Amino acid sequence: MQFSIVIPCFNEENNIRNFQLEMQKVMGQSYSYELIFINDGSRDKTEHVLRELSEQEEHVFYISFSRNFGKEAAMLAGLEFAKGDAVIIMDGDLQHPPSLIPEMIGKFEEGYDQVIARRNRKGDSFVRSGLSSLYYRLINWFVEVELEDGVGDFRLLSRRAVNSLLSLKEYNRFSKGLFAWIGFKEYIIDYENVTREDGTSSWTFPKLLNYAFDGLLSFNNKPLRASIYIGLTLTAVSILYVIVMLIQVIFRGVDEPGYFTLISAILLVGGVQLTFLGLIGEYIGRIYYETKKRPHYLINETNMESSTFEKHPK
Ligand code: UDP
Ligand code: MG
Repeated sequence: MQFSIVIPCFNEENNIRNFQLEMQKVMGQSYSYELIFINDGSRDKTEHVLRELSEQEEHVFYISFSRNFGKEAAMLAGLEFAKGDAVIIMDGDLQHPPSLIPEMIGKFEEGYDQVIARRNRKGDSFVRSGLSSLYYRLINWFVEVELEDGVGDFRLLSRRAVNSLLSLKEYNRFSKGLFAWIGFKEYIIDYENVTREDGTSSWTFPKLLNYAFDGLLSFNNKPLRASIYIGLTLTAVSILYVIVMLIQVIFRGVDEPGYFTLISAILLVGGVQLTFLGLIGEYIGRIYYETKKRPHYLINETNMESSTFEKHPK
């Protein structure tokens, strides 16, 4: 059995060496493995560190992007290049404990296609964990695949799970959703949340908000459907209201200036219209990106050609 470990890295110059050492401890002589670091256009010395490390260590490979394409693109590149019988996706900041790997591999050998490491939210800020749990409640109401809080990208995928993921060709990738979409036999391992080793999380609040919208939008057309229903309901209510007003005007004459109702109706309807126009625009934007068929990433340099793993079409 050969294991490919895919590690997206953005500004992780101080974590890579530690990560590699930890992995060596865990994988050591027991497993045949390769580490595939994806340098996602880091602005620090990540690329340099990777080049040097790959010259010293036989298990280390890297793919360096021409610029920052985002973690989704980095994971995709890793999956495309990985040739192992199973692929493990991990963060490069040691927030995903390598010590879980033997257990994950054990479950894979028992026949599970996806072995998922699930973290709790200990140490996360109150606001972030609160917003997250709210978000997952919302998204599970909207989206047809079940997503779970704490379940991230740290997981082991069997060869056929990897091939299935690669067969999904969409441009806007939302991996959390794609992992759930492909299905197969899953096993969940819980672990304690770990705080970052070095550097800062690249998830600023606006970035998280964008990610949240990606999740909602890239998976279904229910928001569009909802816009139709809300629009229809509003129209029906408005028609009723107009009829009631008309009857009042006919039988009682105009007594109220009706300024407040008028303004609030305009504001309400205007707001709803704008929201759903934006929503429709989002989908059109997505169609626009899909039709362009641009590559997900561009590679600046890599040493993947020296990998000795062979791909087994399982
Ligand atoms: N990452 C990446 N490209 C990006 C942002 C992040 O490859 O544009 C990597 C990063 O190096 C790390 C992982 O994705 O290995 C998770 O990122 P981070 O630690 O910032 O996120 P958090 O752990 O806070 O969710
Ligand atoms: Mg992290």
